[in-house]
Amino acid sequence: MRTLQPEDAGYEQETSGFNLAIAHRPDVVVPAESAEDVIAAVRHAADAGLPVAVMGAGHAPGLPAEGGLLITTRRMNGVTIDATARTARVEGGARWADVIGPASEHGLAALSGSSPGVGVVGYTLGGGIGLMSRTYGFAADRVRALEVVTADGRLRQVDADQEADLFWALRGGKVTLGVVTSMTFDLLPQASVFAGSLIYPGDAARQVFAAYLDWTRGLTEETTTSVALLRPPGAPPVVAVRVVHTGADGDRVVAPMRAAAPVLADDLRDMPYRDTHLVYNDPEGPMPSWGRGVLLDDVDVDAVLAAADESLVIVEIRHLGGAMAHDAGNAVGWRDAAYCLSTHTIASPEGAKAGDTLMSVAGPRPAPVNFLGLTGDALREQLRGAWQPETVRRLAEIRRAYDPSGVFRFGHPVE
Ligand SMILES: Cc1cc2nc3c(=O)[nH]c(=O)nc-3n(C[C@H](O)[C@H](O)[C@H](O)COP(=O)(O)OP(=O)(O)OC[C@H]3O[C@@H](n4cnc5c(N)ncnc54)[C@H](O)[C@@H]3O)c2cc1C
Repeated sequence: MRTLQPEDAGYEQETSGFNLAIAHRPDVVVPAESAEDVIAAVRHAADAGLPVAVMGAGHAPGLPAEGGLLITTRRMNGVTIDATARTARVEGGARWADVIGPASEHGLAALSGSSPGVGVVGYTLGGGIGLMSRTYGFAADRVRALEVVTADGRLRQVDADQEADLFWALRGGKVTLGVVTSMTFDLLPQASVFAGSLIYPGDAARQVFAAYLDWTRGLTEETTTSVALLRPPGAPPVVAVRVVHTGADGDRVVAPMRAAAPVLADDLRDMPYRDTHLVYNDPEGPMPSWGRGVLLDDVDVDAVLAAADESLVIVEIRHLGGAMAHDAGNAVGWRDAAYCLSTHTIASPEGAKAGDTLMSVAGPRPAPVNFLGLTGDALREQLRGAWQPETVRRLAEIRRAYDPSGVFRFGHPVE
């Protein structure tokens, strides 16, 4: 097991991930290369009385390590595709980019999200709202098995028959129960999709957002979409409608949005699933990023756009529901929400203030755990509302059973 300390060359690089705004500052880092390294690191931490944090791709550290021991998993990025069983087994540090290409060689697709750079495990622990989630549900709904190193340093096999509580909790209950060293999940027989985006001028925002809401009310589970007001630095604002349609007749389905306002660019087409990173073109980072999200039953377009301050680079509404509303016997929260309003910007006091104002438009609504983007006390408070109260109670109970002394107190813990 290799370790790095603050004075060592490579410490800065090892502790930083996608989001530079929230930095891990551990006393010791373990750049893990295997499950054995993770077991050794957790046992060493237990002996030394150190709390443990884990970082995958670093998109949302939550409560970052302040002292203690940080396990980085980025080297654990192995992926095995079983084309017959239609499953992927990934190591704990794989990103979606590591899965999408190999799966597509067999005509299969995973429930990846807007950015292929996001960590598969961090995303799935939080449910995982994917490009095809209205058709196939949350990524967490498709998990078959996990291997997890718990606070006692044991590597546990977790599935529907073994450690059933952990299996329930790890699928959607992103509350830091251990270090996931591998995860096996279903792949979907979806070699291609009808997908891409429609781009409109920024001053058509009201028209496009209103048409979008009408349109989404009538969509079937085959169509997963979002609408966003984008203010790319140094360029004029635009509105983007992103679409991933898993069925036939894509052109007919999107016709109302093509007619909703003058279209500046239209790249909607049949594409192999491996090209779907082009739908959102999310930034690859690293960058100091600030983001928040909130779940809604309906959207007041005028209120949202009035609060969409110029300092916010992205103000987005994702359409939820469809297969995401079907109970899958796991810890994913608030499946009944119809939309997710989120915002991302470069981390700055003005951006954070404007983002808070935008979120307040929605009133006191729960936040989806993958779109919390917070740290400190604000994160602790929002985490308690990220699931229904009964789910929070059960998650806290399971956490106390597997980690009674709070070894995993960083990340996204619920108390
Ligand atoms: C550009 C961008 C696009 C995004 N798009 C989507 C999207 O389309 N849909 C969606 O649902 N979410 C999306 N997200 C949110 C993303 O899913 C979460 O931020 C996710 O937690 C990131 O995981 P990570 O490994 O990249 O980050 P990290 O900061 O490394 O990890 C995030 C959390 O997961 C925990 N974790 C990571 N790996 C492990 C492990 N092996 N074992 C135990 N705990 C672990 C960490 O401790 C931490 O609490 C997006 C975020 C960004 C910045």
